[in-house]
Amino acid sequence: MEFSSKLLERAVNEMSQLPGIGKRTALRLVLHMLRQPKEQTIGLAEALKTMRNDIKFCKSCNNISDVALCEICSNPGRNEAMICVVEDVRDVMAIENTSSYKGLYHVLGGKISPMDGIGPHDLNIESLVNKVKEGKAKELIFALSSTMEGDTTNFYIYKQIQDYDVFTSTIARGISVGDELEYADEITLGRSIVNRIPFESSLKL
Ligand SMILES: [Zn+2]
Repeated sequence: MEFSSKLLERAVNEMSQLPGIGKRTALRLVLHMLRQPKEQTIGLAEALKTMRNDIKFCKSCNNISDVALCEICSNPGRNEAMICVVEDVRDVMAIENTSSYKGLYHVLGGKISPMDGIGPHDLNIESLVNKVKEGKAKELIFALSSTMEGDTTNFYIYKQIQDYDVFTSTIARGISVGDELEYADEITLGRSIVNRIPFESSLKL
């Protein structure tokens, strides 16, 4: 692709680093930005810059937050003995949308996936296990997607904590295998949380 401007070329190159955005789409977006009022493009750039610089990960649950302890963890109305284990922030958002859950979360930041070179130590698993060892968590609800990686991760965590005084459950598999949590509708997901089943019994299915 030949550019008449180095500035244009740089913007297109940066934009095309985003997933699913090829060079042609990047060019279309950049030209759109050139046509719209300058303030709008600068507003976008500022929002991205501020987000990247100032965003935090909750020191307790690793959820994305503006402050050190996220709104959910610092809410005294939440049941802190109950921890829902999720892959990323999208799952927290999906479950919060159901209004069916009043416990806390623990965001792992991914799933164990040897194929992708992701092992247990690449994820926020140790801090979760510590919450159980310290007696802070009385129930863990596994809410990872029902994929092989999700099952492996659940099982790995379960093995670490099974000797401690904690009840483990998994959200009922109303969500079909391979579906991501974020795509489940709110009623189905809410019902899955209410009707969660003991983790041990899910192993025998
Ligand atoms: Zn938190």
